[in-house]
Amino acid sequence: MSNMNETIKILKNKIDTADAIIVGGASGMSAAAGFKFYYQRDEVFEKIAGSLENKYGFHNFFDALYNRYTTRGEHWAILIRAMKYIHDCYTGEPYIDLAELLEGKNYYIATTNQDAQFYHTFPDDKITRIQGDWRYWQCDNTCHDEIYYNKEQVFYLYDQIIDDALPNHLIPRCKHCGSEMSPWVRSRNFLEGAFYQKEMNRYKNFLRKHSNKQTLFLELGVGMMTPMFIKEPFMNMVYQWPKAFYATINPQHAIIPHEIRNKSLAIDDDIAITLKYLLGKSTDNMNLIDKNNVFNPSRIY
Ligand SMILES: [Zn+2]
Repeated sequence: MSNMNETIKILKNKIDTADAIIVGGASGMSAAAGFKFYYQRDEVFEKIAGSLENKYGFHNFFDALYNRYTTRGEHWAILIRAMKYIHDCYTGEPYIDLAELLEGKNYYIATTNQDAQFYHTFPDDKITRIQGDWRYWQCDNTCHDEIYYNKEQVFYLYDQIIDDALPNHLIPRCKHCGSEMSPWVRSRNFLEGAFYQKEMNRYKNFLRKHSNKQTLFLELGVGMMTPMFIKEPFMNMVYQWPKAFYATINPQHAIIPHEIRNKSLAIDDDIAITLKYLLGKSTDNMNLIDKNNVFNPSRIY
């Protein structure tokens, strides 16, 4: 525990003294906030799946999403319910704490999360979403370069679901080519058009501007499934930039490569609890992570 205190102190000092902080937020962050229905059976998943869980035998949202036997209407019922949940669910506590920690600092956030939680506590122009956002639709056929904020339609369609299926005539379709719409999230057809490029450029500009400054790369909960979006670029930049420092808070993958050992630190503890430590807040009412039943973000991100 004393080592832990020392590490927390070092990280707090890095946060307070950095010229710029680049946050890489991934699935471990939302897992720490309690959002687990993507990968695990919980009451949120039960509501999304309804009777389809037993009918098809899937037990988490991702398995439901990729099930080949659901009808189009059932598939859309699952999508609409998940989107509605993402639109109107609560703000996860780690996001509130992270915002408090970064208040008044010069920071930028790159995230692979698609659940829009960072948008609850940070301004839009300080975030780049690398894997899309469930609150938007695109043409599944990518016939045109536009994404659509879907809240109003999602709430309307949610009330039209009958027997765990959206009636066929209500399935959202592209006004140009008539093919189905799809969520704007990483997939075979993921639209990386003007909107996506604008956000990526904003992120790259922030990086470029600070490459010679004292920068802190703060990695929060990136798994080993897609390290190429956050983890590996962070490590490469820390290796190449003279005054950069890398910190990872990650209960499962707090790994530091040999090459940047002297300019890194790793905390393999629960992200929610570590953020409380950094803020000097009490953790008395928090559930400590159950190491035997730990959520495994490496499946997707
Ligand atoms: Zn189209």
